[in-house]
Amino acid sequence: MRIILLGAPGSGKGTQGPVLAEHFGATHVSTGELLRGHMGDLTELGRLVSQFVRSGELVPDEIVLELLWEPITKAAADGGFILDGFPRNLRQAELAFKRALMAGVTADAVVYLAVPDDAVRTRLVARAAQEGRSDDLDPAVTERRLGIFHAETGPLLDFYRARDLLVTIDASGPPDEVGAAMIAALDR
Ligand code: AMP
Repeated sequence: MRIILLGAPGSGKGTQGPVLAEHFGATHVSTGELLRGHMGDLTELGRLVSQFVRSGELVPDEIVLELLWEPITKAAADGGFILDGFPRNLRQAELAFKRALMAGVTADAVVYLAVPDDAVRTRLVARAAQEGRSDDLDPAVTERRLGIFHAETGPLLDFYRARDLLVTIDASGPPDEVGAAMIAALDR
């Protein structure tokens, strides 16, 4: 199974990604986690992307696509992938679609975790206290990430709806209910 997971920051992608991965015997691949891993390891790439991530801006499309490609093709050959955090805009979707088409690894479904903005704000405050992610700590950064989500990632919903791939899940409830709703919708 090859699934793309879309949703605002704090919509639960990082929680539900592993749930889907377990259910479908696929690998959870998160671009945010890959980027934070490089930043934590102080790699050259980590240094290059850290300013974008810390300020809540998108990392340039080509960098993310390169970072992602090896883990994605590997996962596709081994049970599939649950892709979390990519694509973030139409250009990424189009670039990746061309490559995926050539490699025979296009997505089977796109799950959109829908959560109202105010719930996102509350969740990110809680996550900042728990995980200490620098991009969750500053309300101005949260607003920037929400703004980018609506302006740049939002149009992807129509892109995937038009391709008949979009499955929208109300993700404002407790994680176990959201997980169950997601799996029920996908199994249908
Ligand atoms: P996330 O963990 O998905 O919330 O991502 C955290 C941050 O990583 C984002 O605010 C961006 O700075 C960066 N990022 C993650 N995925 C992407 C992507 N597909 N394109 C550009 N930047 C990304």
